[in-house]
Amino acid sequence: MSDSTPHSGCALEAANLVYRYPDGRLALDDLSIRVEAGERLGIIGPSGAGKSTFLLHLNGVLLPVSGEVRIGELPVRRDTLMEVRSRVGIVFQNPDDQLFTPTVEEDVAFGPLNMGCTPEETRERVSVALRQMRLEGYEKRSTHDLSFGEKRRVALATVLAMRPRVIAFDEPFANLDPGMVEQLVALIRSLDATVVLISQEILPAVAAVDRLAVIHGGKLAAVGP
Ligand code: ADP
Repeated sequence: MSDSTPHSGCALEAANLVYRYPDGRLALDDLSIRVEAGERLGIIGPSGAGKSTFLLHLNGVLLPVSGEVRIGELPVRRDTLMEVRSRVGIVFQNPDDQLFTPTVEEDVAFGPLNMGCTPEETRERVSVALRQMRLEGYEKRSTHDLSFGEKRRVALATVLAMRPRVIAFDEPFANLDPGMVEQLVALIRSLDATVVLISQEILPAVAAVDRLAVIHGGKLAAVGP
């Protein structure tokens, strides 16, 4: 068990979250939810329900109009973003949003180096993350030349290498073949982190998580095992 992954208590809490996009559209309307450390929470709901907007609040890409998000005891605010982003990693639906250096190795090393890890620590983290994602031998490959499935695995490795307490997945099962969905479900279940995933696909979400929440119209409509 590492210091960065507490296994008891509240991992994250959103309290009375309200978010309005600049054009005036209300996307989150008094949303409150709490996720325990080590828990895997799935969030489902129709398109436009507010799932992505909620996810983007977890690491402060969006900041609420009112209400608050806390990661452990740390409030997500403009002045805490550095620390928040070392605690919360988001795996985006489109890996091209996550991969931007020439090689797999450099992409996976970027986060740890940016967090201040030494070159030795970074090498170790890169090697562990690549092994976890079964990407040994891909170190010098160009990310541009990989298949979609391989890019998704590299994108997840970039997040794993930062060893965040909370890993948030944006539609992780979209555009994957059934074999890859099965592998990803197993991987999500094996992660030593608190997981929040949003999904329009209910079946793999149910298989991957401990608890499901339903968001509708920017509100929490239901939550249960
Ligand atoms: P979901 O992820 O559940 O499909 P979103 O969080 O993307 O839902 O969207 C919630 C609401 O906010 C929707 O009504 C959507 O149209 C609106 N919305 C999303 N992004 C923007 C944006 N950049 N500007 C204005 N409205 C947006």
